[in-house]
Amino acid sequence: MSNEQQLDNSVKFRPDYQWPDKDAERDCPKCNNSMQRQEDLPEYYGKPWWCHTCQWQFSEEELND
Ligand SMILES: [Zn+2]
Repeated sequence: MSNEQQLDNSVKFRPDYQWPDKDAERDCPKCNNSMQRQEDLPEYYGKPWWCHTCQWQFSEEELND
């Protein structure tokens, strides 16, 4: 966290996704291959799950549907 953080409040690009546990594992709903869990980093704006096969991101919310 930097002191500049408060200046960024008006420009919040990062969606508030539910993030999986560090040891969580998920299979892709499209191809059933295991997906890669992304790190929950402040500069990462994508969804937590990445399927290399489909080249597609998934959120926990989508997977729980
Ligand atoms: Zn897939």
